[in-house]
Amino acid sequence: MESQIKSLDDLIQSLKQLPGIGQRSAQKLALSIIHMPKVKVQNIADNLIKVKSKVHLCRRCFNLTEMDECQICSDPGRDKNLLCVVEQPLDLWNLEKARIYNGIYHVLHGHLNPLDSIGPDELFIPQLLDRLKTEAFTEVILATNPTIEGETTAMYLRQAITKIKPNLKISRLARGLSTGSDIEYVDPLTLKNAFDNRR
Ligand SMILES: [Zn+2]
Repeated sequence: MESQIKSLDDLIQSLKQLPGIGQRSAQKLALSIIHMPKVKVQNIADNLIKVKSKVHLCRRCFNLTEMDECQICSDPGRDKNLLCVVEQPLDLWNLEKARIYNGIYHVLHGHLNPLDSIGPDELFIPQLLDRLKTEAFTEVILATNPTIEGETTAMYLRQAITKIKPNLKISRLARGLSTGSDIEYVDPLTLKNAFDNRR
């Protein structure tokens, strides 16, 4: 049901464009915005615009950053010989939170999914393969999720990487991660075990 108030209905329509927000949630959010102090609403609006204009992808690893290269890529203390491939920035954030890894990353921004026409070119896979030619890695850790799509992506990457660098060590996180679980939600101890026991 619509509110019959144009500006309010416009806001509800806008909010519904966000993933996971349906009509009911959009209505609830819109009503809570109505009840907020104007300064808070202004702050949310400012932050929306600010993040959109400032945040972009790191030119090297495709992590999110406000600079040319992200904080991890530009940190001299990180081991530049170790590359960890993840599906999403959320996975990277969770790995960083667990403090178990000191190498650098490559963020794919998704996984292969033929049903949704997501092939290698829709992800940052060509850029990953390019990095193998220009950067001197001793190991690539495939930390895609233990889901069907994540496993498919890891399998594809293993073949593609082997074609370019036949002798490069390629590992996959251990089975401690239960099938179907997303790396972004896994607790630090389980992540550490999966990392330590990678094969
Ligand atoms: Zn980076």
